[in-house]
Amino acid sequence: MNRISRACITLITLLALTLPAGAQYLASEQIKFTRQDSLRGSITPERAWWDLTYYHLDIAVRPSDSTIYGSNTVTYRVVNSSGIMQIDLQPPLELIKAEQNGKSLDFSREGNVYWISMSEKQEPGKIYSLVLNYGGKPKISRRPPWEGGITWKRDKNNLPFVASSCQGDGASLWWPCKDHMYDEPDSMLISVNVPSNLMDVSNGRLRSVVKQKNNTTTYNWFVANPINNYGVNINIADYAHFSEVFNGEKGRLDCDYYVLKENLDKAKIQFKQAPMMLSAFEYWFGPYPFYEDGYKLVEAPYLGMEHQSSVTYGNGYKNGYRGADQSGSGWGDKFDFIIIHESGHEWFANSITYEDVADMWVHESFINYSENLYVEYFYGKDAGTEYALGTRRSIRNDMPVTGIYNLNNSGSGDMYPKGGNMLHTIRQIVDDDEKWRAILRGLNRDFYHQVVKGSQIEEYMSEKAGINLKPVFDQYLRDIRIPVFEYYIKDGKLTFRWNNCVQGFNMPLRIYVSGVRKDIVPTSRFSTIGLETEDVVIKVDPNYYVGTLNMTGK
Ligand SMILES: [Zn+2]
Repeated sequence: MNRISRACITLITLLALTLPAGAQYLASEQIKFTRQDSLRGSITPERAWWDLTYYHLDIAVRPSDSTIYGSNTVTYRVVNSSGIMQIDLQPPLELIKAEQNGKSLDFSREGNVYWISMSEKQEPGKIYSLVLNYGGKPKISRRPPWEGGITWKRDKNNLPFVASSCQGDGASLWWPCKDHMYDEPDSMLISVNVPSNLMDVSNGRLRSVVKQKNNTTTYNWFVANPINNYGVNINIADYAHFSEVFNGEKGRLDCDYYVLKENLDKAKIQFKQAPMMLSAFEYWFGPYPFYEDGYKLVEAPYLGMEHQSSVTYGNGYKNGYRGADQSGSGWGDKFDFIIIHESGHEWFANSITYEDVADMWVHESFINYSENLYVEYFYGKDAGTEYALGTRRSIRNDMPVTGIYNLNNSGSGDMYPKGGNMLHTIRQIVDDDEKWRAILRGLNRDFYHQVVKGSQIEEYMSEKAGINLKPVFDQYLRDIRIPVFEYYIKDGKLTFRWNNCVQGFNMPLRIYVSGVRKDIVPTSRFSTIGLETEDVVIKVDPNYYVGTLNMTGK
């Protein structure tokens, strides 16, 4: 009697800490979705009929009146003939003219979307171009990078310091485009005209610098690889520049650094972590995915963002996240969070890109996890483990990690620490470090420069691990409950099961019976294993992100 009542109290405490199963989707159901969300978040027929091949964004940025004016030339291959094209551009910016082969096209506006009427017949298989002239005062970001827009600031010499950031809100905040992640141009030219006392740093390689007559200069940046919308960026300042060459897995990688002149000395010290990052992540994930475009770290007037081949940096030249260790383990103080985390996204975000933001875990879970791999690479496996377990303190289990598909809806912020700990847990299940590293490198080889559904990543990992990981992904990505390993010892046997879990949850688990390792496969039904003596201590390996309940209360 006594034993049972104590077990009940523990169980009630546990249940109080986790929401009941029925309440798990409540938070996401409360969001009201609009037609604009569907237009933004789905592959509409007006998007599906044309396949992007090339963008030439050609703009003048004027810090004096906070305006952008210019054009985007969109080149595409017709998939199937259609008469209406969807182009996204958010107010207060306006489309001024749309032109094909010198002829003006009619268009109408519906919120963030322009419907362009194609006058020429669009023949399947053929390539066409469309010039979109636009301009105005783009939205100013009040909380970059969490809220998208343009940031207009000044450096210590009172010179303009300007940058774009648009993850989540979308690139159509500042330029007209197909603002959905499923389609990327094969390459892109970004031409940015700025006052001649400033320079622009965008993505890819600086192809040319052209001085204009009106005391302005145009910087032409060419991206030789597919690029996602929110990866495109402008950074405008009176930059200082230094560079180095990293000898990596695919040869010589040009690394270029652009920082405010006032921070040059600090940057030369802090950015020594960039080649360290490249060594660690090439080891775990394979070659840096954009050798052709080089790697850049660019100082920006906000915290930072994973802009493809021009990672932006604003972490104050301090280790940690704004100087603090997010894991509380001490290991987070050993590296600059923004250099490591945002650059890690070159592999998971820029090379392997989610198709729907509902699967944003593909970017953030792997990159949260990469922080622990970085620590492991330089400080050993125990250090990496301490970091991973430390990040659990910010898991909320408030909503599922995955969002709602086709509505431009992302899931819980748990996609970072919980997703990272899910991957750390899967590594324990694989239980073979070389195989695990081969899976991480395999993902980057087989999904190189691809847009993916989360399910493709899940299936790939199951296949390569040789273990059906679907119940594990269902549990940690699509449910908010943390599985509880329940056990008791009686009649010379250890009896155990999984509880508080999805149906069919059968994750293998490593436990220690008085210090002796035992690999078991609990299910939601009780199973037993024989014990030599009942006087044992059961310990679940803490690397697994699970709860434990001794049902006898011992
Ligand atoms: Zn991130």
